[in-house]
Amino acid sequence: MQERPRVVVVGGGIAGLEAATNLAERGVSVTLVERAPRLGGNGLTVCCKAIDGGCQLCGGCLLMERLAAVGHLPRVRILTETTVKAAVPQNGGFSLFLSGASAPADPLTADAVIVATGFDPVDARTKGPYGYGLLPMVTTGEEVERRLRLEGQGAYDGLGAARVAFVQCVGSRDEHASRGYCSQVCCRYALRLARLLRARNPELQVSVFKMDIQHGGRDFAACWQAASADGIRFVAGLPAVVRRSTANPEAATFIYDNILGDTVRQEDFDLVVLSVGMQPRGDATQVADIWGINRDRFGFFAADEETRTLVPGVFVAGSCQAPRALAESAAHARRAAEACYRYLAEGRS
Ligand SMILES: Cc1cc2nc3c(=O)[nH]c(=O)nc-3n(C[C@H](O)[C@H](O)[C@H](O)COP(=O)(O)OP(=O)(O)OC[C@H]3O[C@@H](n4cnc5c(N)ncnc54)[C@H](O)[C@@H]3O)c2cc1C
Ligand code: SF4
Ligand code: SF4
Repeated sequence: MQERPRVVVVGGGIAGLEAATNLAERGVSVTLVERAPRLGGNGLTVCCKAIDGGCQLCGGCLLMERLAAVGHLPRVRILTETTVKAAVPQNGGFSLFLSGASAPADPLTADAVIVATGFDPVDARTKGPYGYGLLPMVTTGEEVERRLRLEGQGAYDGLGAARVAFVQCVGSRDEHASRGYCSQVCCRYALRLARLLRARNPELQVSVFKMDIQHGGRDFAACWQAASADGIRFVAGLPAVVRRSTANPEAATFIYDNILGDTVRQEDFDLVVLSVGMQPRGDATQVADIWGINRDRFGFFAADEETRTLVPGVFVAGSCQAPRALAESAAHARRAAEACYRYLAEGRS
């Protein structure tokens, strides 16, 4: 391998940070290009879900650890509020043209690139019958995470004996919306949020409406058992419609099919949390075109052998390739960094 190869990582969420850290530790010179004013990506929304100081292993700490580490790495240059607007193949690598606040005047030279541009949370408005944006008692998992993060764990204290419903698979597993995939994270965050809210409001009545529960991830089984032991009710079925209650205008009425009971039911809730999933970024086509990489049938970036695209020297990492939680995005990014390093070490083949 030549002395100190140069890699550009595009996107400074957990995946980009992990890839940059991993490569820098191997002696590679890394430039991390992030279009937002600060690093962290969507993981910055994730709140701590510890109950009375007891960690629920939600993964939120991982991002903080990576953010703290990346600033101390001598071989990582960070360019925020900047993006890559064009890439030209050159000498087996790339000449990159940047735009934004930290863009250098001359093109940047890279021997390889890792694209880690992440995902967009599903916009709950696209699920019209659930009334998000119209009914004030209907919120999303993303909003609950953000509020707990910004205001602290007491943000929802005082709910008393309110009836709270979580609705799973909002915007995921929906072939009609071209999102037939499972988003992987919404069962985990919803159950942990439900447990946290209930721990802080012991009278709270929590129901989780689901098709089934995604059991992936470290320690999920324990979380699931704990949720059941906490008295959280699981309902096999999703509401067809959520509308304002006629009995109490501050509540929402669910009309749903109870799959197991084979009956149509109606029930009121004071707070509704839509468990929104992950989707490809709105500008994924433009980003794919810059690098000449393919997308899969849902719009995520396609990779051969998981992290290698069909374009030599271009790798993908994290949730831009498939829905992943923080720990899985970081693990995927380590595999992308490994594949990228091998590619450089083997003379870019
Ligand atoms: C509601 C919700 C709750 C969640 N809760 C949890 C949880 O409790 N635990 C958990 O483990 N996971 C959770 N997740 C998932 C978590 O957010 C993701 O796993 C994680 O953010 C993926 O990291 P990433 O680096 O792949 O992408 P992102 O976090 O999306 O980061 C991508 C970065 O790339 C930047 N970028 C994008 N395009 C460009 C471009 N063209 N040029 C330069 N930069 C660009 C973005 O600004 C961003 O900083 C949750 C997700 C949602 C939607
Ligand atoms: S992993 Fe999650 S619950 Fe545990 S301490 Fe970290 S942020 Fe809090
Ligand atoms: S993680 Fe759970 S809520 Fe999210 S899409 Fe998969 S099954 Fe549905």
